[in-house]
Amino acid sequence: MMSVEGRPQWWSLTATRTALRLVPRGGARDRWQQELVAELYGLSRAAQARHTIGVVTRAPALRAAVTARDRVTPPEENIMRKPISCRLHLHRWHTVSAEDGSGRFRECRRCGKEDADDGRANWFSGGAM
Ligand SMILES: [Zn+2]
Repeated sequence: MMSVEGRPQWWSLTATRTALRLVPRGGARDRWQQELVAELYGLSRAAQARHTIGVVTRAPALRAAVTARDRVTPPEENIMRKPISCRLHLHRWHTVSAEDGSGRFRECRRCGKEDADDGRANWFSGGAM
């Protein structure tokens, strides 16, 4: 069965927005909500489900990052440098050929992280070009 791509599923939007309510109001939460919802567009249902589960299960860690009091740098400034999706380990993988021709590997389009685990490639491929 073909997956429906384009507009995010209602449950995915609702769960993503609700999870971000754990984070205190402010610039970080507003920006993360926008980024995470935008990420859902164009994903297959399976990819949306995975993305949504990632957001929901890691939202408490985001809250902890924002509310930590023992940081030297202002928390919002520090934690917003890396794309929020990548902080949640929701990288946007694409396949790259090694320059020396030794093979192919996956790399995140946003943060440049390389992924050695090719076994999960199909999980990430939905809708992402
Ligand atoms: Zn990344």
